[in-house]
Amino acid sequence: MVCYLITQYILNTSVYPREPHPLKELRHLTENHPRSYMAISADEGQLLNMLLKLMNAKNTMEIGVYTGYSLLTTALALPDDGKILAMDINREYYDIGFPIIEKAGVAHKIDFREGPALPVLDQLVSDEKNHGSFDFIFVDADKNNYLNYHKRVIELVKVGGVIGYDNTLWYGTVVESPNDEPPSSDDDIIRIFRDAVRELNKMLVVDKRIEICQLPVGDGITLCRRLA
Ligand code: SAH
Ligand code: CA
Repeated sequence: MVCYLITQYILNTSVYPREPHPLKELRHLTENHPRSYMAISADEGQLLNMLLKLMNAKNTMEIGVYTGYSLLTTALALPDDGKILAMDINREYYDIGFPIIEKAGVAHKIDFREGPALPVLDQLVSDEKNHGSFDFIFVDADKNNYLNYHKRVIELVKVGGVIGYDNTLWYGTVVESPNDEPPSSDDDIIRIFRDAVRELNKMLVVDKRIEICQLPVGDGITLCRRLA
């Protein structure tokens, strides 16, 4: 409850008054969609905006676009010649937000690929010239593939660049007792993804190629800075 009130305070005091108009419009448009919970929160958007600008990020990637709130945040933060390789299996979601992205004048920065992300990553990794070529990579798709994504994006992000893993607190379920409530079925996404997110968190903390910072913003974001 206290956390919820504090988040509301931050949103009302420091985030919504400064939220760029196109993002506000996209957030309101997405609110009525049945999967609106999938979008990053506006305070997380503000964090990404600040981070991208501090890093002078130019070449970025996003895995998991949905209606495009994090994508538009990124597009607005990048310089005019910045690039975002964006992937999602569902183009219909992207089409919902696209008119707002276009109206905001940043569509030219986006290279959207419809389909599963892994084959695209494999293709990128197979060409040496893509290694270390991304300043920032935001991973926000199927959580049970995060370990697979990590193996690939760690090659693609530059040394000193950042990978952001979203939902690393998975609706707070990571603190459930590990033996409590195993997945009830193959469709029990909350618990299947809970276990996948726990595996990710355990792996990231021992990966010597990165340093990490896990923040309780939104549903938890873990920033990983590539060291070597
Ligand atoms: N970053 C978005 C939210 C993404 S929600 C925002 O802030 O609004 C997760 C998205 O991942 C969904 O749109 C889903 O279609 C997509 N997704 C799921 N599995 C995927 C896969 N294997 N490859 C690419 N995208 C995938
Ligand atoms: Ca997310």
